[in-house]
This record gives sequence, structure tokens and C-alpha cells, in this order.
Amino acid sequence: MRYVEYGRTGKRVSVVGFGGMRFDLAKGQEANADLVRYACAQGINYFDTAPGYCNDSSEAIFGEAFKNMPNDFFVSTKGMPTSFDTAEKAREAVLRSLDRMGVPKIHFYHVWCLRKMEHYELAMQSGGQYEGLLRCQQEGLIDHIVCSSHQPGSEIAQILGKNEFEGVLLGANILNFPYRWDGVLAANKLGCGVVAMNPLAGGAIPKHEKEFAFLADEGETPTEAALRFLIAAPQITVTLNGFTTREHVDTACRVADRAEPMTDADLERIRVHLGRNMNEVCTGCGYCKDCPQNIPIPAYMQVYNDKVMFKQDDQAMIGAMKHHHSWGNLVMRQADAKECVECGLCEEACTQHLPITARLKDIARWEAKL
Ligand code: SF4
Ligand code: SF4
Repeated sequence: MRYVEYGRTGKRVSVVGFGGMRFDLAKGQEANADLVRYACAQGINYFDTAPGYCNDSSEAIFGEAFKNMPNDFFVSTKGMPTSFDTAEKAREAVLRSLDRMGVPKIHFYHVWCLRKMEHYELAMQSGGQYEGLLRCQQEGLIDHIVCSSHQPGSEIAQILGKNEFEGVLLGANILNFPYRWDGVLAANKLGCGVVAMNPLAGGAIPKHEKEFAFLADEGETPTEAALRFLIAAPQITVTLNGFTTREHVDTACRVADRAEPMTDADLERIRVHLGRNMNEVCTGCGYCKDCPQNIPIPAYMQVYNDKVMFKQDDQAMIGAMKHHHSWGNLVMRQADAKECVECGLCEEACTQHLPITARLKDIARWEAKL
């Protein structure tokens, strides 16, 4: 296992982290706790959870494992500014998490799920969540206050630039890096820790290994390539993996040991492949972004990629739209797909020659069902 310093915290964390959002609950608490201990024995020392994960049982599973861990470890959990909007509620949430995990302190506590600037402002308001977390820090209950964000890179830079958070957790992977990497670079520039979640694009890569064969080097699977993209990247501190089996742990550890970052040429090859071999796919180049109606075309076309790549039906796409309205870049949209006036400017600019207006019509139809 490779260890790196998390930002400027002085803590040396494993480049592979255990994300506690995908435990197999059918196996029971002890079997899942055993998997956590197994990961720790393999050298993983960063364990990330949150209240609510796995039907609200994730913190308790970690708590069971933490009673008997084979090595030293770091604990990370979270609280949402929308749920814990006063300092007192924020402190109570921290105490609840400590109690459920049976630990004396949380090393990395996240202001969770910033999707727009209003969420950040809510956390920072006088008497709000951040104030409660500072109090916990003074009491020795939290070591480092960090955040998780689903915002564009420019907003991540704006927030981290204020020096209130020591790191950020964000969703980046080998398929969305053309859209998400600016947030990673902004955090790097400010000396913050960067934790990546969702390395396998929500399971899409292992599920469609044949379609994603182009991601891999000789002798590796597309899943291993997707893990290597993040685990070996010098810009990423920890890559969270939602392990459910020992084999998953072994794969991630093997990739960490290999630790060969993808080169700029590899990434360019993948970007071109995403465009050329998947002709119908939006590559996120952004050339279409000046829509007179302010429709966030690249963000919408990224969602439409799911339909193109995985042949999703209408029902699945309505689900995906719902998800992206709440969590993805579409949270920030100034206009909906239905506001397209078919001026044709975007299609003229599109480097992939995509039928954007026709796709927006499909999207408008799905949005009408939300
Ligand atoms: S065709 Fe529609 S989406 Fe494209 S630029 Fe014009 S209004 Fe915007
Ligand atoms: S120009 Fe085409 S490929 Fe580029 S972001 Fe816009 S829709 Fe996607």
C-alpha cells in the first residue's frame, strides 16, 4: 500500500480508502465488520462513512469493526448543512456519530453534499453548522473539518480558497474526468486533500467491461484501469472504494502497489476514444456552451451519454434525470431542456455533430415526468 499526506494535515493516509456506502446488508453486521478489518490488515487506513448510508447502518458496522482493528486507522464521516443548520444540532450529530462508531474522535468530518453555494452559505452562517464543528474541534472531537462537493470546479476553488476546509471529497472517475478534473486541480493548487468517490462510475464500468475495453492497458481489466486512473494519480489523495468482498479489496490494493499513473497521452487517448469509438457520445469539450437560452448543454448531454452507452430505457433515464437534478451539474442549471428554441447554434458548434436539439426533446420528456 502507498501512503500520502492528506493536504497539510500531517496525516499519512492510504491511497485506497474504504467507502462504507455499499455494504452487503444481507451478510449481516459481523461479516461486514470483518471485511473492514480485512481491509485494514491489507494496509487501508482511511474509512469513510456517513449517517444514512446502507439504511443508516454503515456507522454501526464500522463501529463493530473498530472494536478490534488490526492497525491504526482514520475515521471520516459527515453531516449535511441542510439537516444540521445550527451549531447545537451540528454538535449533536457529531456526538451521535462518535457514539455509533465507538471512537473518541473523528479525524475528518465533512460538511456534506454541497451542491450549490447556498448550501455552503448555510453551513457558514453565524450560529450554523461550521461554528458547531469548530466547537467540536476545540473539544478534541474532530481533527479536521473538510467538505464534500458536487459543484463545478470554479465554485470548489472559491470555497476552498477561503481556508475553512482542509480537504474535499468529490466524484471523479475515468469517464467524467473531462468535466470534473478542474475541481481536483483547484484543490491541489490550494494544498487541500482530495478524496475521490465513485471510481467505477456507479458500477457501470465493471458491468460493461466489453464496451470499456479501450480504457485498459495490456494485462489489466477496464475496472483495474479505472481504479488505477485515480489511485495512481498524484492529484488524488485517497480513492474511496465501496467494497463488498475481499476480492474487491485485493484488486484495489494490487492496483495501489502497481501505482503507475496514466500519462497525458493515455488520457488523451481515452478522451478521443470516448468520442471516436463511441461516436454518439458527448466528450464534454464545451464548445456548445454559449446557448442563448442558457441551457447547460454539456451537462445535459453528459446525462444523455447514459442512454447512448448503456442503452438505458425511458424509465431508467427518468431515474437518472432525478439523480442529476439533485446531485449533479444540473442542480446549477438556469434553464430546462424544454426551453430550447432550436436556433441550431449548438449543433453547428458541436465537435461530435450530435443531434442536440432532438436529445433535448427526449430530456424534456423525461423531465416532465419528474
Ligand atoms: S438549439 Fe436550443 S440548446 Fe442549442 S443553442 Fe439553440 S436554444 Fe440552445
Ligand atoms: S460540443 Fe458536442 S461534444 Fe462538446 S460538450 Fe457540446 S454536445 Fe458535448
